[in-house]
Amino acid sequence: MAQPSKGESLDSSLKTALIMSQIILRNQTFFKFLLHIDREHAATICLRGCARCGGPLHQAHYQRKPRDAPSSWVEEKIRFSFCCGHCRNRCTPASVRFMGRRVYWGATVLLATALSHGLSLRRSRSLTQLFGVPVQTLRRWRQWWLAEFTTTPVWQILQPIPAPRGNP
Ligand SMILES: [Zn+2]
Repeated sequence: MAQPSKGESLDSSLKTALIMSQIILRNQTFFKFLLHIDREHAATICLRGCARCGGPLHQAHYQRKPRDAPSSWVEEKIRFSFCCGHCRNRCTPASVRFMGRRVYWGATVLLATALSHGLSLRRSRSLTQLFGVPVQTLRRWRQWWLAEFTTTPVWQILQPIPAPRGNP
């Protein structure tokens, strides 16, 4: 049996990654799990009260409309948010479903950007067709990961710790 060339192997692994990504992004159980994480985090933030004045936080949740979310999903699109009962300051806790104001799921931003690394324009177009994300958006996301994300506190926490010198 002939071994696939390096190019064929990459295409095959990319194809598998794309299929797996689509399975994840269409899996409502996965998004319900992410919703549960967000709900728990929001409850913790609510208990702390207003970061500005210490006042009570009242629910001010709203509905997001991710472009890549099925229209039948409702609960999964709720963005947890609060409003202070004293100073009216809005508090919107971090989310594992939404990435800032981006109009796609955070998981889509992450997967599509990771899979676009090092792709030719032709293959990038295949990727954009599958995710429904324009090439320019993919490039913008990639630039954000490479530049802005590396300046965030999250990156400071997540960046790998270098291995000690002299150890095998
Ligand atoms: Zn307040």
